[in-house]
Amino acid sequence: MKDQHASVAIPVNPQAAYTDGTDIVNFIAGQVRASSSDRKQGVYNPSTGQVARHVVLSTVEDVNEAVAAAKAASQAWADTPPVRRARIMNRFLQLMNQNTDVLAAMITAEHGKVFTDAQGEVARGIDVIEFACGIPQLLKGDYTEQVSTGIDNWTMRQPLGVVAGITPFNFPCMVPCWMYPVAIAAGNTFILKPSERDPSVSILMAKLFKQAGLPDGVFNVVQGDKVVVDALLEHADVAALSFVGSTPIAQYIYERGAHFGKRVQALGGAKNHMVIMPDADIERTVDALVGAAYGSAGERCMAISVAVLVGEVGKKIVPMLQERARSLKIKDGMALDAEMGPVVTKEALQRIEGYIATGVEEGAELLVDGRGYKVAGNESGFYVGGTLFDKVTPQMRIYKEEIFGPVLVCVHVDDLGGAIDLVNKHEFGNGVSCFTSDGHTAREFSRRIQVGMVGVNVPIPVPMSWHGFGGWKRSLFGDMHSYGEEGVRFYTKQKSIMQRWPESINKGNEFNMPTM
Ligand code: NAD
Repeated sequence: MKDQHASVAIPVNPQAAYTDGTDIVNFIAGQVRASSSDRKQGVYNPSTGQVARHVVLSTVEDVNEAVAAAKAASQAWADTPPVRRARIMNRFLQLMNQNTDVLAAMITAEHGKVFTDAQGEVARGIDVIEFACGIPQLLKGDYTEQVSTGIDNWTMRQPLGVVAGITPFNFPCMVPCWMYPVAIAAGNTFILKPSERDPSVSILMAKLFKQAGLPDGVFNVVQGDKVVVDALLEHADVAALSFVGSTPIAQYIYERGAHFGKRVQALGGAKNHMVIMPDADIERTVDALVGAAYGSAGERCMAISVAVLVGEVGKKIVPMLQERARSLKIKDGMALDAEMGPVVTKEALQRIEGYIATGVEEGAELLVDGRGYKVAGNESGFYVGGTLFDKVTPQMRIYKEEIFGPVLVCVHVDDLGGAIDLVNKHEFGNGVSCFTSDGHTAREFSRRIQVGMVGVNVPIPVPMSWHGFGGWKRSLFGDMHSYGEEGVRFYTKQKSIMQRWPESINKGNEFNMPTM
């Protein structure tokens, strides 16, 4: 099969990149495609609180068209030698690197996170593209010579066909990159349903991939909401679904996907704890905690939202946290010195402020109140100030539930055992960290904690692209983590082949079970 080098105009500035026309539309069979829908949704710039453009909310017919395009491209792409797929991936990698700042500016404009953080997001997405470039090695099978006399046995992994990904608003570049580069490198064709809150990056990535030589129909984007998700779940030609988002929807996707006989990995919500031991380096711990709690306005699935203060350590830490939460530089994410931008929508702002009110009603001590935060010149922006609660108990809703905003709650425990017990009883098990200077404490913590991703003196332990990402308990429905070798396994099925080339002398019929 010949690599394609189609020419697609790549916008030179983010403003032009948002859309071809006024609305953000679909990308199907290598083309920007209008939707058959008359439903649209505003896409806001959270820094100003204004609608900047609209995204189409696609129909079942749009999904059918995308699946048909992906299916039509499927066999030829699966037959393309992995090394040639890897070469296209390599060109895509170069284009993504060249366009990092454009992608990051688009993320800041629609998500609100600060520009340098958006650059970091793009870089971590690109890591997975880099990993996918090694697909020939990753798809190498196993071989056993002479499993019986004259018989060899080997296993190989083959693509599933058409697969789909449904992604959340908080990492519009990185989370899709957890999915489609690995799926496509492994020989599948892909349909991405991005978040309707920040959909522009998906279209730019699709154009860049086409420019890299990806055949039409291998990567498709369908914008929309539940209508699109349900159509993908129900479509007989979609073999597998990857989902990342909140836990109720993750569970829904997992159950519905299983009902329709699909392979599903569904990553859900989180409540990540940082356990701080009395022997931790206090200055460094506070630096790490402030960044992990308030960075990206707390809208990271690996954000730290609970500080677990062991023994007397709270007496030193809490006043320092209070001071730092008050002095955060909160502004438009494009401001060079911004440490935190707005939250994504007005609804998110209201939900977070509602949780702060609940915490007060529940009897927690509100040390820093981020409600009603205003940024001069952007008074309609969706800003919440850094918020800090002390004396929080495990029974309170602000401890149990995911707030997904810049709200840090402090819980006090007596010792390491109490801290481990607290974390292990929580319904979520995405990320956790322990700050200590004692090796034995770190070892015991890592072994006993019931959480999928653990940091020791590392606040946000997002695994590198070859290690795979995934939580435990109600933070992940399914067996396999995103990207890394588990990602390759998820997007492929194993086939075992046994071969015998008989000698020319015929031995007659064999009726007994072979016993090697
Ligand atoms: P969300 O669950 O609201 O949306 C995720 C996706 O599901 C979107 O594409 C959305 O359009 C779709 N969706 C929403 N409601 C639906 C419904 N009723 N039926 C079908 N599809 C639906 O999540 P969000 O607000 O975009 O993202 C934030 C959440 O994602 C947080 O809970 C966060 O912890 C989680 N998250 C988890 C991880 C992880 O790796 N575990 C990573 C990032 C985000």
